[in-house]
Amino acid sequence: MTSYETVEDYDYWKLALKIHELREIGSKEIESSKLLMNILKSHGFKITERFLEIPTAFKAEKVIGSGKPSIAFLAEYDALPGIGHACGHNLIASSAIFSAIRTAEKISNGTITVFGTPDEEGSGEWAGSKIIMADRGAFKNIDLVLGSHPGDEWEVGSQSLAVQDLEVTFIGKAAHEAASPNNGRSALDAAVLTYNAVNMMRQHVRRDANFVMHGIIKEGGTAPNVTPERAVLTYGIRSTDIEYHKELVERFIKIVEGCSIATETTYSIKKIGLLFSTTKINKTLSNKIRDNIIARGIACPELDDTFSRLPKGSTDFANVSQVVPALEVGFQIAPEGTAWHSRESLEAAKSTRAKDSLLDVIEVLSDTAKELTENKRLMEDIQRDFFQK
Ligand SMILES: [Zn+2]
Repeated sequence: MTSYETVEDYDYWKLALKIHELREIGSKEIESSKLLMNILKSHGFKITERFLEIPTAFKAEKVIGSGKPSIAFLAEYDALPGIGHACGHNLIASSAIFSAIRTAEKISNGTITVFGTPDEEGSGEWAGSKIIMADRGAFKNIDLVLGSHPGDEWEVGSQSLAVQDLEVTFIGKAAHEAASPNNGRSALDAAVLTYNAVNMMRQHVRRDANFVMHGIIKEGGTAPNVTPERAVLTYGIRSTDIEYHKELVERFIKIVEGCSIATETTYSIKKIGLLFSTTKINKTLSNKIRDNIIARGIACPELDDTFSRLPKGSTDFANVSQVVPALEVGFQIAPEGTAWHSRESLEAAKSTRAKDSLLDVIEVLSDTAKELTENKRLMEDIQRDFFQK
């Protein structure tokens, strides 16, 4: 057990290094979440532990003056299994906590909330906890959400891919492969057919929808002389068009059905995890934050530039952006082109470059939040943007 009696000693950098060292994986971030809550508590935030019954989630709130508007920061603090904080969520944790603390120091009116959102990487029971929070109405009384994510460049307004993971199980009939193969029905055949049919489908999808489909054959039999009775495939289906994504999932299910008929096997399909949405980009908010990044002498691509790039991945932050105006700022901690979830990004997440960028992003986010509490017009423009289709 770590002792947090000296919790007041924690500044943004000491916190980032401590979370890096704790390297707790998704849904098991017990010490990390406790430390974050204790720091916020020592700065006068009111804490709700086990927020929405999620063991390592929390909500921390500080009301200042009129209490309006209500701005929230999202903290992540899960490490990747095996390697540790190679996604830099230790920096996201510190950025959220100290952006909130800095904002509370800077403003005269507003409610500042920090949501502790476990398991962004999807390794545990509460994978994609922001999706659960969004679905259960956690952001109902929040006007705006700010977040950040380290990477190989500064960026605002980047798109993400909707994703649903699926597991398919085929059941056939076991038989002696030499003595009575006619009695056997191979589940592996169904799996291989599915794998090939999916590859044929790739040619016949919309090119503008950033279709990505990746799969493996997880189980394919037990012995070569026994007809494989059971085969299991797992697939991830992604796209930047949430409506088209539904269609793609339906087409995948049709393929599975067809392959099961063809091989005289049965099948079942199970969803793995929750549906990660696409990001709803708020142009007004993106441009505002970009201005504040540039004001600190940092280069940041124009919004149209960012839109023209291929999205890199998926995040549960996207689901939050669907229910409330929200933006996740990308901040640079490593040279452009650095591979993520790698040894290089693991080191970058505790480098001096990360320290400098972390301070920058805390100032950018708290400056933006301050402006939003003072400029009613700006807040209205952001809300209007959000409700526009
Ligand atoms: Zn990440």
